[in-house]
Amino acid sequence: MTSTLLRGRTLSFVRWPQTIDDHSAWRYEEDGGLLIRDGRIVAAGAYADVEKQAGEAAKKIDHRPHLLLPGFIDAHVHFPQMQIIASYGAELLDWLNTYTFPEETKFANAQHGRRIARLFLDEMVRHGTTTVAAYCSVHKASAEAFFAESHDRNMLNIAGKVMMDRNAPDGVLDTPQSGYDDSKALIAQWHGKGRQHYAITPRFAITSSPDQMEMAGALCREYPDLHMQTHLSENHAEIAFTQELYPWSRDYTDVYEHYGLLGKKSLFGHCIHLSDREADALSDSGSVAVFCPTSNLFLGSGLFDYQRFRRRDKPVRIAAATDVGGGTNYSMLRTMDEGYKVIALNGEKLNPFQSFWQMTRGNAEALSVAEKIGTLDEGSDADIVVLDARATPAMRLRMETVETLAQELFLLQTLGDDRTVREVYVAGRAAKSDMAI
Ligand SMILES: [Zn+2]
Repeated sequence: MTSTLLRGRTLSFVRWPQTIDDHSAWRYEEDGGLLIRDGRIVAAGAYADVEKQAGEAAKKIDHRPHLLLPGFIDAHVHFPQMQIIASYGAELLDWLNTYTFPEETKFANAQHGRRIARLFLDEMVRHGTTTVAAYCSVHKASAEAFFAESHDRNMLNIAGKVMMDRNAPDGVLDTPQSGYDDSKALIAQWHGKGRQHYAITPRFAITSSPDQMEMAGALCREYPDLHMQTHLSENHAEIAFTQELYPWSRDYTDVYEHYGLLGKKSLFGHCIHLSDREADALSDSGSVAVFCPTSNLFLGSGLFDYQRFRRRDKPVRIAAATDVGGGTNYSMLRTMDEGYKVIALNGEKLNPFQSFWQMTRGNAEALSVAEKIGTLDEGSDADIVVLDARATPAMRLRMETVETLAQELFLLQTLGDDRTVREVYVAGRAAKSDMAI
């Protein structure tokens, strides 16, 4: 059995770091080793100790002086939007009508879906992201393309065909019945196949009729172990329109509550303008609010109140995500850099350890996959990112004055991007150096 022994500075989190000095919240080895066998980490710790367990035949790869972390996790992203990222001049509903819906009609063509799925996962790996929770288009073929590509690469990904049956062009509409049937067929075909996870994915309340929302709720009841992902409370016009479409609802969250869509594996993108009642409802059900800073800034949607959600008597579980193509960068480093600024505008701080916890273990916990990924612990899948804090001349110069790990992490987050990512391992396989580009 071949095994691989990685050497470098290893950093992995045990829990949320309360402060910048909360050393017991993470494990850091200045000269660390990770022994990988069959796609899993089978030993982790000081290199000298791990080397003893490796045996003569192990392939040794020395990444010193770079940092080895668990691969980044992106909790909300739209793979069919690669060709509309960086489109000018719209708020949410205009953005959808002008750019998103016309673009997503292209995914009726299965060949187009396969091409973009391949390029999308290339881009993710290039940026150090090894797991995503992805929205496909309404077309069943788009989800088939995504899962086929993901399975070929042995990536742990969560994805689903979008369900949407109104308030959009015909080319991106299903019906309550076809949305239900296609979702079921995809679940049967892909959920649990290798590392693939299916997410029931009603796009949001505006594009689903009450009948379709019933069907989404029925799927959640039939498959209680599956994820559910949708959008919630992103912008004021969206909230007002939702209120018109569901006049009986107490608030936006109540619509999803009514159809049984809240729960521990439910991921709600944005959650910017929630009332206390809505935040309580998310908290009581264990639902997850997904923070998408670059998207929220780009579309002018508002400022996610990260620290308030954490601090409240009924805390809300939080994930972080790029939300490409409303988001403006594929990198989780760039995302948390903008996240830091959003939190700063709310008069708060997010320290670098908290930030890197969020990108790795925090997102793994929020997606309920922390027993598999998000750490470098023994038994974890070997999804690993290798980061070089001297990747550019400006970073190299700044590193001359960096004295602590916290400072180095903050530099990586503030100036880092895909150039910072030296290598990426997906289930133990070197995936970045494997790519053609
Ligand atoms: Zn989104």
